Amino acid sequence: MHCKDMLGSLSAYVDGELEAQFCAEIERHMADCGNCRAVVDTLRKTVYLYREHGHADVPEEARDRLYAVLHLDKP
Ligand SMILES: [Zn+2]
Repeated sequence: MHCKDMLGSLSAYVDGELEAQFCAEIERHMADCGNCRAVVDTLRKTVYLYREHGHADVPEEARDRLYAVLHLDKP
């Protein structure tokens, strides 16, 4: 699997809405991919902040890394 194949599923993964088999594939990919680990970490923090405070205050560095990954499939 490549990063761009995962991106659409990462938020569902963070929300615990993915099938166990697909979760395992994502975890296997993340073991070798710092970018996807950073994205999941950022999404987790964002979801947590939303739940706790009603808004998310994502650190700028984490947001930059998230955007860098999300733009991978652009030419
Ligand atoms: Zn990746």
